[in-house]
Amino acid sequence: MDDALEPVIGIDLGTTNSACAVVRNGRASVVRRGEDRIVPSVVAALPDGSIIVGNRAKRRRAVDPTQVVFSDKRLIGRRFSSNEVQRMCAYVPYDIRQGNNEAVVVELGARLYSVVEISAYILTYLREMAEEALGQPVRKAVVAVPANFTDGQRSATRVAARLAGLDVIRVINEPTAAALAYGYIEDTDRRIAVYDFGGGTFDVTILQITRNVFEVLATSGEMFLGGDDIDAVILQMMAETYAQQHGVHPGSNPVAMERLRAVAEQVKIQLSETPKASARVEEVMPGHPGNLEFTLDQEFLRPHIAPIIQRTVPVCQDALRSAGLSPHQIDEIVLVGGTTRMPLVREIVREVFGKEPQTSINPMSVVAVGAAIQGAALMGSLVPISGGGVSQASMSSSAVLLDVTPRSLGVRTVGGFVDMIIERNSPIPVEQTRLFTTTTDNQRFVRIQVCQGENEQFDANFRLGELTLSGLREAPRGEVSIAVTFEINADGLLEVRARDHATGVSQSTKMRVLGGLTDEEVAEMADRLRRREASGAGPLPAGDVAARR
Ligand code: AMP
Repeated sequence: MDDALEPVIGIDLGTTNSACAVVRNGRASVVRRGEDRIVPSVVAALPDGSIIVGNRAKRRRAVDPTQVVFSDKRLIGRRFSSNEVQRMCAYVPYDIRQGNNEAVVVELGARLYSVVEISAYILTYLREMAEEALGQPVRKAVVAVPANFTDGQRSATRVAARLAGLDVIRVINEPTAAALAYGYIEDTDRRIAVYDFGGGTFDVTILQITRNVFEVLATSGEMFLGGDDIDAVILQMMAETYAQQHGVHPGSNPVAMERLRAVAEQVKIQLSETPKASARVEEVMPGHPGNLEFTLDQEFLRPHIAPIIQRTVPVCQDALRSAGLSPHQIDEIVLVGGTTRMPLVREIVREVFGKEPQTSINPMSVVAVGAAIQGAALMGSLVPISGGGVSQASMSSSAVLLDVTPRSLGVRTVGGFVDMIIERNSPIPVEQTRLFTTTTDNQRFVRIQVCQGENEQFDANFRLGELTLSGLREAPRGEVSIAVTFEINADGLLEVRARDHATGVSQSTKMRVLGGLTDEEVAEMADRLRRREASGAGPLPAGDVAARR
């Protein structure tokens, strides 16, 4: 059956961690390399300039913090001058710089890398991991991205996948993928809240599912809120304890603090399973003899981290308000992200929505599993339901879910107003044509300016780009008719076409920004990655998670 088909991997390219999954024999499973299922989205340069990815790269943070790039997803598809990038510049130890065209580049091993290239390294690692596990080449992938990713961010992610030797057959929203993993597809009218609490970001998305159509009713989030904040609380406790035990505070020693941070995360993870956790860290500060002995209690930690977790509550309330729903109108709550493993998080989710969240699928791999299910459905394979058994009934192409366009798309008309061509929440793919006419006599060209948003004033929306149609037939105003067509493909990328009916003159443009990169830059990066393969550099080294605990 589906084994004969080319495999499609589902990829969750996360801010903190990434994972990939595949459907085989009607079952979705997460791809593993040894014990390793979750790959930290971290890329580091070794002193000889070679690049490593995953757990090995993450461990370099405690050795050579400036040579380790993490949270690259926060930078991809954004302009250097944007608030988010500027905030990251102030917050990370590695060097973020401005490249051509306001692109964002990072310095690693005395070389500049585009952030797209950094993502490509992570995606290459995932592809090679899948090839190793499946014993065959992998080319096709479905990649999940946040529901609020812009066209620029989606395009940049696609470019990264292309550089990693992957053909992206669909870009899917992460909350949609999570809902799909739970098999919520054949239902009529179900409302789902996807509560996604990861390492560095928090998002909540309210989805409405009506027979294969996944509509994002609302999405809300906090860009800097996650498990990292909880690690920071535990890290401070550890540093204080060390100061009490040895009379010297490690706070001003970045390497010592990075070493402790890694252990703080492990303590936190252990406390999700047991009421008490202990750690011993040898030689915390180079040059200072003295080990740290540290024990922490769930009950003791609770009041210290509750305010962090409580910050997710108003975000949920905001999303519910935008969706026009009250908590009891939500049918299911799906948990995504490692931080949702914490008992206190689950308690707070229960309080907000008044019901038990779904927990049967690992929240760290649920997005990859959903993306893999979507991939299998697109290839016409059997589709597992709830990540488990196979439903023959849902295997038809109707199982290929539809996504909707989250914002309206329109063109600028006289007086600076917008004429909407595609309304928000239209299921995609979609194509709409509207007729326009000239506003002056003998007008020889029209400028078609395109925006995304709900405001009736053009300038209040997000400007996507423009297209000029010239060579119009000379005629009194109002007599030339121009057909403007907007087409959104299944990945949410827009193509705009304009045509003068009388002369047949036409123009078209894709409203895609290559993540701030030019085609030449993309070609150059592809070349570099190919050279790496040709030089026999071999697969990216595996992370050895076994040594971690
Ligand atoms: P994600 O962004 O989904 O990859 O989640 C990563 C975050 O989840 C990191 O802050 C991890 O420390 C955290 N995490 C992973 N497993 C657990 C666990 N069992 N309990 C608490 N936090 C966890």
